[in-house]
Amino acid sequence: MSTGRSAYGARPEFAIIGGGLVGWSIAYGLARLGRRVVVHDEGDLALRAARGNFGQVWVQDKGAGVPAYHRLTRESALQWDDLARGLREASGIDVGLRQPGGFSFCLDAAAFDARTRLMRRIQAEAGDHGFEFEMLERGSLERRLSGAPALGRKVVGASYTPYDGDVNPLRLLRALYESAIALGTTHRFGSPVEAIDPVVGGDGFEVRTAWGTAWTPQVVLAAGLGNRLLAPMVGVDCPVRPVRGQVLVTEKVRPLLPFPTADIRQTDEGGLLLGSSQEEAGFDDRVTIGNAGAIARRAVDTFPAIGGLRIVRSWAALRVMTPDGLPVYEASASCPGAWVVSCHSGVTLAAVHVHGVAAAISRGSLPSQYAHCSAARFAGPAQAAGAAASPATAGKEANVPQPA
Ligand SMILES: Cc1cc2nc3c(=O)[nH]c(=O)nc-3n(C[C@H](O)[C@H](O)[C@H](O)COP(=O)(O)OP(=O)(O)OC[C@H]3O[C@@H](n4cnc5c(N)ncnc54)[C@H](O)[C@@H]3O)c2cc1C
Repeated sequence: MSTGRSAYGARPEFAIIGGGLVGWSIAYGLARLGRRVVVHDEGDLALRAARGNFGQVWVQDKGAGVPAYHRLTRESALQWDDLARGLREASGIDVGLRQPGGFSFCLDAAAFDARTRLMRRIQAEAGDHGFEFEMLERGSLERRLSGAPALGRKVVGASYTPYDGDVNPLRLLRALYESAIALGTTHRFGSPVEAIDPVVGGDGFEVRTAWGTAWTPQVVLAAGLGNRLLAPMVGVDCPVRPVRGQVLVTEKVRPLLPFPTADIRQTDEGGLLLGSSQEEAGFDDRVTIGNAGAIARRAVDTFPAIGGLRIVRSWAALRVMTPDGLPVYEASASCPGAWVVSCHSGVTLAAVHVHGVAAAISRGSLPSQYAHCSAARFAGPAQAAGAAASPATAGKEANVPQPA
């Protein structure tokens, strides 16, 4: 099968499998460090969460029960300003970063109490690292939101943290791509990887596609939902599953919301994005009336004045979810030189992927701060326990609008 070691032309040091947000973040990070990279991706019709997400840099409810994950998310949010500046310089693309902090609305007293407990828990677990939050009851919330549309009568309050923000996610994907390409990265579009064969003796990997086989010394699996099939080929379990999210877009309106909220945000082009549900629907990525309706209803319960706006677009896309909701950053023990990277918050974590994770891969070892992301946690019965506890997505329910 092998066509020899010259199939890539100029030999890359890393072949990245997957051209979504994770793949291009790692590619850009490695290319910034002077590494030679090739990115293999599928064609236009592939499942690609990177093209269907909500665009939030979202921290506030992440990592209850796993403070290391909360810290990782915070660290990435802190680095986002640098990332946006670097991408603008490298690609000329402004990804539209805003980080004014974000609100998560509670539409009944029970939700407000549960939210208060969640925020307090994250704060207690943050220890010396600290965690600033406010639980705003309706009166204080109305004062804070002066200028925004009037709140609906169901809104009892909201949580606020100063760490949250949003970006234009399509421009982010484009900017990562352009920046990596400008630094010499090669893009193999429409070349799905069928198999990765570790070469006997630990001498790199043969990457097989319909177009031929090429040799690479190191391989990074960033194939989103494709990692489930590909990771075992390099001795790693990555049991990711699809979790559907639906998003609605309204017509463009004058600036109404200068801050993101968990399920409504205004794009820099003026449309309101309403979303995004978390649904166990397998690989079905269709928009459904029931869940789209629930998203719209919640948005109108929050801001009744937007009820008259036209919906101009809707879509559904599939999240890349591990059993416990935590990312996977793994260096294969049995196939040195193979790396596996997966997460369900590829916008939020883009900054640590470009900076920290790519640097660790380039150096050849993952630091202990990523230990909670090791795929070793999926070995044996812990996997089932992890699925039940879901610490990284604590507070989220299936089939209702939830923050990304
Ligand atoms: C509705 C929704 C809302 C979201 N909102 C947010 C948000 O607000 N904030 C946030 O941080 N995150 C959000 N996310 C998550 C975010 O979009 C994902 O974390 C991120 O896109 C995952 O990136 P990825 O590269 O792992 O996967 P993907 O973006 O799915 O990309 C995987 C890539 O791998 C390719 N691939 C697969 N198999 C192969 C193969 N065999 N060979 C070659 N290529 C292959 C695919 O073609 C694809 O290009 C949301 C996701 C959804 C669905």
